[in-house]
Amino acid sequence: MAGAGDKVDYVFKVVLIGDSAVGKSQILARFARNEFSLDSKATIGVEFQTRTLVIEHKSVKAQIWDTAGQERQGEKCSQWRHHTIPYHLSSETYHVLLPNKLTTSHACYFNNCRYRAVTSAYYRGALGALLVYDITKRQSFDHIPRWLEELRGHADKNIVIMLVGNKSDLEEERAVSTEDAKEFAEKENLFFLETSAMQATNVENAFQTVLTEIFKIHS
Ligand code: GDP
Ligand code: MG
Repeated sequence: MAGAGDKVDYVFKVVLIGDSAVGKSQILARFARNEFSLDSKATIGVEFQTRTLVIEHKSVKAQIWDTAGQERQGEKCSQWRHHTIPYHLSSETYHVLLPNKLTTSHACYFNNCRYRAVTSAYYRGALGALLVYDITKRQSFDHIPRWLEELRGHADKNIVIMLVGNKSDLEEERAVSTEDAKEFAEKENLFFLETSAMQATNVENAFQTVLTEIFKIHS
């Protein structure tokens, strides 16, 4: 693996999308830091983490974006235009800060604002996406077509998409068959893998596949 001071040949932005609680942040924690936590906090705003890997002798920095910003479907906030969300850029973490006056009682209202403000910035420049559902939550799979529609509406035409059925360690609670997901992925021309962020199964493989495919298209 390339070290921090090494030269980077490519930076590829990849976004994580899917319903809340499917395991997006833990998939990212596993990939970026080889960590996993069972009491994962809900993601606030947007952040990205990076990891540099070598693909065909080139140093490729993967910039993986994670959010909770687009997960809520609520009433549209009519006043979102009046808010400007300040951005704070630290070395490798990108946070969308909450407006000062925001309190938890405004969460739903704010989520709509955030949804509006962040969606296009989130997808801008993304060359890859992990479209994640939870194999134990049928609804999270049923929502995949909507996520795909949003992704295709906002992202690069050539975006490389991997459908990811996470929590494969919970086989006894499975609610989505591998065959159904595979069939959907084939129909929509997506890569497909089942992962477990908890057991570190296929997480590396999922990112490697997407990044290698992006590399083939863009190098
Ligand atoms: P997000 O809202 O999509 O970012 O979901 P999180 O990453 O916050 O995960 C939601 C919950 O699912 C947390 O309690 C995680 O610990 C748990 N979780 C995430 N990945 C896995 C997994 O592969 N297996 C199991 N059993 N639990 C997981
Ligand atoms: Mg999260």
